[in-house]
Amino acid sequence: MSAPTFLSLGLSPSLANACTQAGFSTPSPIQVEAIPALLRGQDLLGLAPTGSGKTAAFALPLLQRFVVGRQEGFRRVRVLVLVPTRELAAQVGDVFLRLGSSPTRPLKLAVVHGGVSVNPQMMRLRGGADIVVATPGRLLDLLERNAVRLDTVQALVLDEADRLLDLGFAAERERVLAALPAQRQNLLFSATFPPDVQALADALLHDAVRVAAASQAEALPQIDQRTIAVDASRRTELLRHLVREGGWRRVLVFVATRYATEHVAGKLASRGVQAAPLHGAMSQSQRTRVLEDLRAGTVNVLVTTDLAARGIDVPGLAVVVNYDLPRSPDDYVHRIGRTARAGASGAAVSFVSAATEAHMRLIEKRQDVRLPREQVAGFEPLELAPPVPAEAGAGGIKGRKPNKKDRLRAAAAGQGGGPQGSVG
Ligand code: AMP
Repeated sequence: MSAPTFLSLGLSPSLANACTQAGFSTPSPIQVEAIPALLRGQDLLGLAPTGSGKTAAFALPLLQRFVVGRQEGFRRVRVLVLVPTRELAAQVGDVFLRLGSSPTRPLKLAVVHGGVSVNPQMMRLRGGADIVVATPGRLLDLLERNAVRLDTVQALVLDEADRLLDLGFAAERERVLAALPAQRQNLLFSATFPPDVQALADALLHDAVRVAAASQAEALPQIDQRTIAVDASRRTELLRHLVREGGWRRVLVFVATRYATEHVAGKLASRGVQAAPLHGAMSQSQRTRVLEDLRAGTVNVLVTTDLAARGIDVPGLAVVVNYDLPRSPDDYVHRIGRTARAGASGAAVSFVSAATEAHMRLIEKRQDVRLPREQVAGFEPLELAPPVPAEAGAGGIKGRKPNKKDRLRAAAAGQGGGPQGSVG
């Protein structure tokens, strides 16, 4: 049998052409499985890890079924996509626009999310829209203002459903669902599958086809996963060293707190690295700008919280650094999935200290891998040294003698901050 093409999956020539224009030469595995089922109108449960091409997997068939070729002047909302974050809303919107705009009938798309003024979004919805991509809170706000009607929706997508559940979105999600017609096609995508996603899937889906892009471990083959043993207090220095020595470009660094994003980015910037923070307390325009700067290469190192762990697609992102380890092994998969997207290769480097060693083991166990702990000359961990008083360690470590500052740092690291939150 010959390899599937977008045409052979049942897509129209104009949509198949849009795929070629977007640079997609062949459908990805999840697209091969999902597109025919969705064109038949089936519900779908997608276990789709990051970077699998899942957005196009749902955008293409929904465009074909509900949007492309319709002639009416006023647009009724046929497709609603709910996403957990503003950045993901913008990104999903871009995919629809890229694939669904035709010269004869431009796609009318409304991307609505919080953090920006509501008025332009109300204006945009005034003449109707084919597709709404929304975060739940702002969508409810618009519903209450009668700025949007959802009673014509024919397909609902919950993207990153696990996240829509765990951020306390449940109440908002139920209110949105109540505004939709009962008869509709339902699609639920999730990279991970905790029990509450299963419960939501059971409640929402009818005779759904289940597609899995690949198991998590199989889905991340091109990512070179590394761990480096380093004392917590020396991570910022090590990071700067690695960026400089490795000539790293486009690096995403994950830390545990908003404060740490600012602190670490500030320290790097003061030492000549093009670094910037990204966190949820920044304004939407600031958040958009730093992501654009990273994509454009004017920012080299973006230091962020788990805000950026999911959904964000930065082409050419070469390295992901876990400065602080993620709390859950699932988040590890999401974080490192920011690199090596769409078949490219990438590296994921995790800093492991004596205090976080056990947690790293847990992450490895869930991934079914065991990674060697590397050491970088000049940054060998003192905390892993045999249990001798800090002073006695002098001279015992190859390559570098701990100075007074080191000893103070070691003492501070020993006092607190914990495995997740300390900054160096
Ligand atoms: P997603 O999993 O939807 O976030 O997609 C990840 C990346 O894969 C995006 O940059 C897409 O543009 C790209 N992509 C999606 N489908 C294909 C395809 N069939 N061939 C090549 N790249 C694709």
